[in-house]
Amino acid sequence: MKERIRMKIGFIGLGIMGKPMAKNLVKAGYQLAVLDLNKASVEELKAMGAETASSSSELASRCEVIITMLPNSPQVKEVVLGENGVIEGAKPGTVVIDMSSIAPLASREIYAALAEKGVDLLDAPVSGGEPKAIDGTLAVMVGGKKEVFDKYYDIMKTMAASVVYVGESGAGNVAKLCNQVVVALNISAVSEALILAKKAGVDPDLVYQAIRGGLAGSTVMDAKAPMMMDRNFNPGFRIDLHIKDLNNVLETSHGVGVPLPLTAQVMEMMQAIKLDGCGVEDHSSLVKYYEKLANIEVTR
Ligand code: NAD
Repeated sequence: MKERIRMKIGFIGLGIMGKPMAKNLVKAGYQLAVLDLNKASVEELKAMGAETASSSSELASRCEVIITMLPNSPQVKEVVLGENGVIEGAKPGTVVIDMSSIAPLASREIYAALAEKGVDLLDAPVSGGEPKAIDGTLAVMVGGKKEVFDKYYDIMKTMAASVVYVGESGAGNVAKLCNQVVVALNISAVSEALILAKKAGVDPDLVYQAIRGGLAGSTVMDAKAPMMMDRNFNPGFRIDLHIKDLNNVLETSHGVGVPLPLTAQVMEMMQAIKLDGCGVEDHSSLVKYYEKLANIEVTR
């Protein structure tokens, strides 16, 4: 515990995910300094004992570890490498743990720029969504130097049930893109099944109860099927963010030369429901694409 109290962590990005993750670090005894454009979130952490900061560089000058939890590559580049960014304040030996989901190529660019200043980067995106961020049971997939991973494992484990090293810089975000392919296709499959049940005159909830314990069951099904049937599309994980991830998936897959036909199709379906105003809704609202085609809702 003494070690934890001495180590100061800077946390930038207190959104749906970052806020509960930062709270778990405070509860575990770490000293935090926080920053976000949203002042209300900063105040909430301040009330729990966290310090505040005037800029990313000023925050970095006071911390040994800086965690970022931001929307996408441009925001992470701006906060870490931009004017008044982390790179301006961080001392050699500092580590940046970027837990945002960004393009693997962007992670490698940030890694190289920080390395010139003697600062390390781990790309450590997460899976599990807001409930697991609150419970501290996220799955973390990490790229970067193995010895840096080992040194800062305990900090990541405070927020997670599993923390797995997957390889050199960028590998964590490659793993996260793979995760997002499986989640997107799984939501799509659950949507198709519930629409079929409803249109065939069988209660979709009973179908869900009947199949969830068999081979078709999944964490995605258990999280998203009830939301679809309850018409609860509060995010969770927004369609806009999933589009961002699938964009990174397709850019990466085209770069390495691998066709992903199903992912490409789900990407276009998400684009279509975004046009109906669903971009800010949970990604379970993908079911609405099918509901429009079949002219039916998957209510119980
Ligand atoms: P969010 O939009 O709720 O939070 C992002 C936060 O970053 C906001 O509070 C925003 O004010 C802040 N921010 C943006 N630019 C900033 C800047 N320049 N300086 C300081 N703060 C800034 O997003 P989220 O849902 O918390 O997701 C964060 C990351 O985690 C994304 O990459 C997302 O893909 C990933 N992720 C999200 C979930 C989920 O279920 N929401 C699950 C796994 C991974």
